[in-house]
Amino acid sequence: MSNIATNILSLRKMLPGSVTIVAVSKMQHVAALREAYDAGQRVFGENKVQELVNKQGQLPADIAWHFIGHLQTNKVKMIVPFIDLIHSIDSLHLLREVDREAKKHNRKINCLLQIKIAREETKFGLSPEDAGVLLDNPEYVSLHHINIIGVMGMGSFSDDHEVVRKEFKRLHDCYENLKALYFKGHGSFDVISMGMSGDFMVAIEEGSTMVRIGTSIFGERQY
Ligand SMILES: *Cc1c(COP(=O)(O)O)cnc(C)c1O
Repeated sequence: MSNIATNILSLRKMLPGSVTIVAVSKMQHVAALREAYDAGQRVFGENKVQELVNKQGQLPADIAWHFIGHLQTNKVKMIVPFIDLIHSIDSLHLLREVDREAKKHNRKINCLLQIKIAREETKFGLSPEDAGVLLDNPEYVSLHHINIIGVMGMGSFSDDHEVVRKEFKRLHDCYENLKALYFKGHGSFDVISMGMSGDFMVAIEEGSTMVRIGTSIFGERQY
């Protein structure tokens, strides 16, 4: 069995069955994704639009592709025909563009609100307060081709698991608050996307339902 297949199977054994594993395949060759696919992996995450589109064209159609990087509005139209979940919605402006393009394809696209939980200045995302402001905006209510199904966050790049744990707790709290305030009664707000190779066990302990794992599946990134 290939290393990639072994890694996927041992992750699957380690994690609760209810947790979705997104195989983060950015900067990996198509052959590596194919190995993961042959091991049964069907959810892949990419963070660059062009790379995602190239790979999508070369791999089987039953893959669920997730976009996990910063998304520019002018590139939304390239992924809308096939994307399964966008993890990185960080403005109403972006959401409006996804809705507009999705409408052209007669699709309703699942999205996560990216919440800024780490202290590092470089991280994209909405503050929990701004997520509320977005969901309060009457224009949001008028968008019928997007479906917000949860939140996503990235912990600090820190070896200190207690720092990261606090950030994951903050994301979980944010999720619970948004769910209570904006999604009561409609049951589809149920995704907390948090946890990467270095911190997924902490993320699971703090309530993650979706982990995004690159290095622990594919090894160090290639190109
Ligand atoms: C690269 C990336 C990951 C995966 O990182 P690993 O440490 O390789 O598991 C997860 N989420 C996002 C948003 C990423 O950009």
